[in-house]
Amino acid sequence: MPSSPLSRRAFLGRATALGLACALPGCVPNPAGSRVRFGVITDVHQDVVADGPERLAAFLAAMRAAEVDFIAQLGDFCVPHARNRAFLEVWRSWTGPAYHVLGNHDFDGGYRPEQVRAFYGMPASYYRFAAGGADFFVLDGNEPGGKAKGYKRFIGSAQLAWLEAGLRTAQGPKVVLVHQPLDDPQGVENGAAVRALLERHGVAACLSGHLHQDYLRLLGGVAHLQLNSASYHWLGESAAARETLAPEVHRAHPSLRNVALYRDPLWAVVTIDFARAELRVEGRASTWIGPEPWARGAPAANHPPAVVRPAISDRRAALG
Ligand SMILES: [Zn+2]
Repeated sequence: MPSSPLSRRAFLGRATALGLACALPGCVPNPAGSRVRFGVITDVHQDVVADGPERLAAFLAAMRAAEVDFIAQLGDFCVPHARNRAFLEVWRSWTGPAYHVLGNHDFDGGYRPEQVRAFYGMPASYYRFAAGGADFFVLDGNEPGGKAKGYKRFIGSAQLAWLEAGLRTAQGPKVVLVHQPLDDPQGVENGAAVRALLERHGVAACLSGHLHQDYLRLLGGVAHLQLNSASYHWLGESAAARETLAPEVHRAHPSLRNVALYRDPLWAVVTIDFARAELRVEGRASTWIGPEPWARGAPAANHPPAVVRPAISDRRAALG
């Protein structure tokens, strides 16, 4: 094949650019973007806390300053009731791309998925979008089909087929957003089957909420990042938790009987750097309002101090 110094130099320059664009196995290099940086908040629970709008406004102000590519909330946001309109308007003041994930509590009171979607302005219960050269898959973990009592936490066969087809054809690096984690028994019931799919198709990371915990778990080459609630940790129906809550705290936060509130809202700026195959999390640390959960009767066995904390940790982890 004929070659000249100029064309070889041009070829090497192009190869270098492509090679730097993505260091993850199985991903097609995309020179358009080698990293994506976004703001994520989850489990705000506007219907539980008294200061949901203020927590959300603080998040948006920080994201404007951070100049993130987009924002996302990972569910347990608010029910689609008229009283939550002002809260939603805070979210809508964001002028850039913004994405919703459905959480189990968003249906509290018997709301149907189409009502929640219409209130939020969601295109569908599960969908995909592109950002920074990467493909994001938003899942709905609230489908019927599981065996557990209480809230539905399952991903049905039609959604799995949609996910597999999308992962197979995606050109860029792949990221999943879902409310219930795929890597915990309290998360998606068929999480193992979904994880196998993500591993088979080289998904870089899966971000979730729901547990109100703070951890990162690397499983089968996929980074499972559990993002803490913006607002609180739930203590459960423990009588001891009620009895030991200081009266002044109870008076100031009457809805927080079985809840350990975080003084400041939590959120994270997440960078997925595909060129370096690295996940970076810039989190936030706060303090408990009132005594810590264990002093209020929450057993450490059910509320492990290693992951139950009023913080989202800063992290840096290798991907792939
Ligand atoms: Zn939840």
